[in-house]
Amino acid sequence: MSQVRVRFAPSPTGFFHIGSARTALFNWLYARHTGGVFVLRVEDTDQARNSEEFLNLIYDSLTWLGMNWDEGPTVGGNYGPYRQSERAPIYKEYLQKLFDAGRAYEKDGAVWFKLLGERTEVYDDHRKKAVTKVANAPAVIEDQIRGRVERIEDEDFVIVRSDGNPVFHFVNVVDDIAMKITHVIRGEDHLSNTSKHVELFKAFGAPVPVYAHIPLILKQNGPGKMSKRDQGALIEDYQKRGFLPEALVNFLCLLGWSPKDDREKMPIAEVIRLFDLPGVNQSNARFDEKKLAHMNMSYLLELPADRFVALARAQYERQAATPALAADPAYFREVVLLSQPKIKALEELPAYTAYFFTEEFSIDAKVREKVLAKGEPGARLTELAGLLATADFSTDAAIEEAIKGLAMIKGLSFGDYQPVARLAVSGTNAGPSITSLFRVLGRDRTLARITRFLATL
Ligand code: GLU
Repeated sequence: MSQVRVRFAPSPTGFFHIGSARTALFNWLYARHTGGVFVLRVEDTDQARNSEEFLNLIYDSLTWLGMNWDEGPTVGGNYGPYRQSERAPIYKEYLQKLFDAGRAYEKDGAVWFKLLGERTEVYDDHRKKAVTKVANAPAVIEDQIRGRVERIEDEDFVIVRSDGNPVFHFVNVVDDIAMKITHVIRGEDHLSNTSKHVELFKAFGAPVPVYAHIPLILKQNGPGKMSKRDQGALIEDYQKRGFLPEALVNFLCLLGWSPKDDREKMPIAEVIRLFDLPGVNQSNARFDEKKLAHMNMSYLLELPADRFVALARAQYERQAATPALAADPAYFREVVLLSQPKIKALEELPAYTAYFFTEEFSIDAKVREKVLAKGEPGARLTELAGLLATADFSTDAAIEEAIKGLAMIKGLSFGDYQPVARLAVSGTNAGPSITSLFRVLGRDRTLARITRFLATL
């Protein structure tokens, strides 16, 4: 078989969202799986709704997600130009072919595509006008995902509007022919267009590509398709929030595809090896933000320290968290590495670590009330301060041993010291272990915080 050529054909009329990214990804995966070519084609014929800004967003998002295109804008190729707005001469040439073959005609200023078959005038009650019905055979689509689909086109349709602009169906098919596309992998919302497209391919005497219509992505809650306006829909938001592209890509792979075992977290090379179109589910996928957060967390967890620290720094910069950025780099590193296993996305870091970088952190009033209501927290904290003044701060284990020793002497347990100590040095009841907190904050800062807190009791 000849080399697979697939294309992602976005219209730059809005923000780049989960649905588009998933369509791009399935095309890219199929190209990589088959050793084929992944083409990026920009369907920017709608001048009123296109924008360069949205187009740049498509390039940036694909690049960020690691979906490099083999042919397309910015990289070129043998079948360009790759923006429909630059392909007018090609459309003119193809339109002429249809006229020459007697398959196009003008009516009311527009150009119509002529179906083959016996024609009869009938009155359409619904549209309240006479229409010409064509006794056409159904188009049979052997969809790689949907299975066999039959649809009939029984009316001629417009291919160039009266304002001279070619219609989507026409340019889409012309480009698929001219760019030698072998497989059309796209959203199921386009299934209803496919019979028109098949008619056009046949009229041009071109081979009909293999179709694969990907099921919809349903919104997180309730029925209906996820849209750009839904929470969690935009790719750039994940980028800003410090999600890892590899986690997002892994999550996107599973929106409609699975390796047919229980695995979810998989390296992309493994997905490429296993990905195939018949393996895509027929049923709709549901967007699950919790699952994405979980996926991201597990990818964050296994990042090498240097990369995690670098990504963390970029995130503090994005969020303009200046005290952390001004801190000693070695201290910054320790703090963020301590938080690495605790966060779902990098965006949580500045708030999660705020108390490490300022002495003006707030004490959570509710937590304070709860902690102070139990036992003798003042006495415990005083004992702890005495201990920490001379304790070995070199490792978590050393600190833990010291506190346990103190607790044993007093006939208490580690848990009697922990909540109030945490409250005093961090103002909260959650975070890294207190032994790590003490060690990273260091003796001086820890004691100063405890002393200050004791003064408020
Ligand atoms: N421009 C169309 C879209 O964004 C492409 C349809 C197709 O892939 O054929 O939906």
